[in-house]
Amino acid sequence: MSRAGREQRWVAKLQGQYVRFALEYWEGKLPTLPIRVSWRMRTRVAQLEWTRVALQPVEISINGRDILRFGWKAVREALLHEMVHVWQCRHGIAPSHGTLFQAEATRIGISPEATERLRPLRRRRGSSP
Ligand SMILES: [Zn+2]
Repeated sequence: MSRAGREQRWVAKLQGQYVRFALEYWEGKLPTLPIRVSWRMRTRVAQLEWTRVALQPVEISINGRDILRFGWKAVREALLHEMVHVWQCRHGIAPSHGTLFQAEATRIGISPEATERLRPLRRRRGSSP
């Protein structure tokens, strides 16, 4: 299968997981988001972008190399981590790894410890903590 074909399959799988997790953990009350596979990410497994003022989640990126390296179990945890940030946005909270994040992560059964490095917000969009 071509790289593009494989990537398409991954995106479909990730989008299916997003919908399933949203139903399972948040009663489906998370906005639907585009998910893409990125080959440019160096230090993160996953990342959420959101609009800085409106706290509108825009897109989730998943590191393609990490899918190959660590497999779907690690990716599941990373996707859920970003979905907690989506949940924060939905409640008007700028994504962070504070106590609310930790409580929600624990509630849904993922590590409450931040797995990404905190980075300052970019000019127009936030890049996820
Ligand atoms: Zn985070």
